[in-house]
Amino acid sequence: MLTAFYHPGFAAPLGKHIMPIAKFGLVAEQLRKMSDVNVTPPEPVTEEDLRRVHAPAYIEAIKTGEPRALAESQKFPWSPQLFRSVCLTNGGCLSAARQALKDGVSAALVSGFHHACADHGEGFCTFNGLVVAADALRAAGEVKRVAVLDLDLHYGNGTAQLAVSRPHLFQVSIYGNDYWNNTAYRDVSVRQHEDGENHRSFALRAGANLFVLAQALTRALTLIDAARPDLLLFQAGADPYFEDPYSTLALNHNDLLARDRMVFEFAQDRGIPIAWVLAGGYTADVSKVVQVHVNTFQAWREVYGG
Ligand SMILES: [Zn+2]
Repeated sequence: MLTAFYHPGFAAPLGKHIMPIAKFGLVAEQLRKMSDVNVTPPEPVTEEDLRRVHAPAYIEAIKTGEPRALAESQKFPWSPQLFRSVCLTNGGCLSAARQALKDGVSAALVSGFHHACADHGEGFCTFNGLVVAADALRAAGEVKRVAVLDLDLHYGNGTAQLAVSRPHLFQVSIYGNDYWNNTAYRDVSVRQHEDGENHRSFALRAGANLFVLAQALTRALTLIDAARPDLLLFQAGADPYFEDPYSTLALNHNDLLARDRMVFEFAQDRGIPIAWVLAGGYTADVSKVVQVHVNTFQAWREVYGG
């Protein structure tokens, strides 16, 4: 039995926005039909949890909406419901991480977090739930070291920035889109890029297929193994999917299912507890995004035996 964390309050009102906020509820609906998945609401994170990672002025801006530019730095319209919703999504990540320490594996139906920096948000990410979870578990003495495997299409810049000052955190990001310029890499083969203290990365060239991804992933998993984490947080992004408006990769549903299977096989083989989040996905037909996320649950079932 897998516990997956979901709360209808994850969605703050965004108006018309490229972020398909409905996908979280649609994935939850699919999971409720599965007898081996228990969908349950998380507790929100506390302000103390947020303050380990984020600047007080930024937290205050998200609470109050002022100054507005900072409160909307993640590119969401600010609303009075925003603070509560991001405390719940960050709580989803923390709850799944804690559940994984107990059960070996767990999931949260929340978005990526990985562009959120210490003193501002970016790229639809308000607070960095990955780092908030890692720091909360470490403060409680439940883990010593946490690794993040970021397989979203976009480079995990916020997590990388936060990892620099955190020797207990290690991130590997495999990405196919230059986050800052919002363009895909067209002229590189698999190589490391933007690396620094406690973070490594691999850029995938345009047209990269499962073979290219699997090569990078094998190297990424070797790095994670060497970091000896007590917990692995997995950004199971749906935006590498070939029809995604941001993607130039050649990865279909079966390829992404194979990706997820590789990650779970590694975690199970090494006995590393793993918690995953849904992360990005912007294909106009939202059912194709939902399918990527539902397939991650299928990969879990195939590897862990349901
Ligand atoms: Zn993304």
